Amino acid sequence: MKKILVLPGDGIGPEIVAEALKVLDKVKEKFNLAIETEEGVLGGAAIDAEGHPYPEVTQKQALAADAILLGAVGGPKWDKIEDITIRPEKGLLGIRSQLELFSNLRPAILYPQLADASSLKPEIVSGLDILIVRELTGGIYFGTPRGFRELENGAKEGFNTYKYSEPEIERIGRSAFEAAKKRGGKLCSVDKANVLEATILWREVMDRLAPEYPEVELSHMYVDNAAMQLVRAPKQFDVMVTGNMFGDILSDCAAMLTGSIGMLPSASLDKNNKGMYEPIHGSAPDIAGQGIANPLATILSVAMMLRYSLDEAEAANAIEKAVSDVLDQNLRTADIYSEGMKKVSTSEMGAAVVAAL
Ligand code: NAD
Repeated sequence: MKKILVLPGDGIGPEIVAEALKVLDKVKEKFNLAIETEEGVLGGAAIDAEGHPYPEVTQKQALAADAILLGAVGGPKWDKIEDITIRPEKGLLGIRSQLELFSNLRPAILYPQLADASSLKPEIVSGLDILIVRELTGGIYFGTPRGFRELENGAKEGFNTYKYSEPEIERIGRSAFEAAKKRGGKLCSVDKANVLEATILWREVMDRLAPEYPEVELSHMYVDNAAMQLVRAPKQFDVMVTGNMFGDILSDCAAMLTGSIGMLPSASLDKNNKGMYEPIHGSAPDIAGQGIANPLATILSVAMMLRYSLDEAEAANAIEKAVSDVLDQNLRTADIYSEGMKKVSTSEMGAAVVAAL
């Protein structure tokens, strides 16, 4: 029996997670899956219940689980807390680092039915299907020494350290090669090897791994060119792998190619493919409680969980197909609505996916 920890979180989190759980129940029944779920608290909800964004009780549950499904955390209610170590976002960082979730997988998929939602021309983005693999626990965001210091001339200087070790590069590289193997067989490694030593090493390690994955075609691209290519001809990419900072920027850019933040799931995996799955959007306090949030990103996160942590590709495919089917039925939540479509609520969208399954 596989154990899933469910963390609805804050804002629209509980609303969208409720729909995702209905979909999970349906695939459990349809594919006879041995999965049990348990609920816990994270973020603002955890501060309210336990006085900490990632309390001990949740830590125990997270360590024991095979996978974690998260809604979203944060909201204005907790923004005023002065001690920044007990802000909701610290819960997220806490769970990622405790579980060593170093590999962040962010697909940017544009369903042809939603091609009008992108700010790019439909012919450039229609059918887009990219996976960005971002290193999540290293690089310049974590490198030391870091801080502020005073220079001899009295001016203040801020400084950070960009570093990657061979084992860190190798494990994210393997994660990306494995993902490319399961998809279109193309991997583009993004670096700045013309300027940064850490990424010269990055490129060397990727090249060293390549012969172990003969079914994957590896290429390299500088990050500035990658940014340009993402908005010029994004369909040239299958899987992209890059460090923490470049990945942060490129994955948001890729997400926006699709124009619909409510549609995109993500996974953060450890070295054994235990993972946390969540929509890429936040807790959307502006629409919380109105029953209008789009649950599809969270539902698609369940599909990723089945594929990557639970090895149930058939069930994952079925969910993704059901999502495409409800879009074919012209059902749209408010965020992806356009004229002539049928506007539905959060729970109606969830029910439609269950029905399509
Ligand atoms: P956001 O993603 O919550 O919202 C941005 C905009 O997109 C809003 O207008 C919102 O209504 C809309 N939106 C987001 N998800 C939607 C959905 N499923 N359906 C329809 N519309 C949707 O980003 P924000 O407003 O910058 O942040 C709000 C809160 O979320 C903050 O407290 C922030 O810290 C937190 N946050 C959490 C996470 C996370 O939990 N992983 C990520 C980002 C932001």
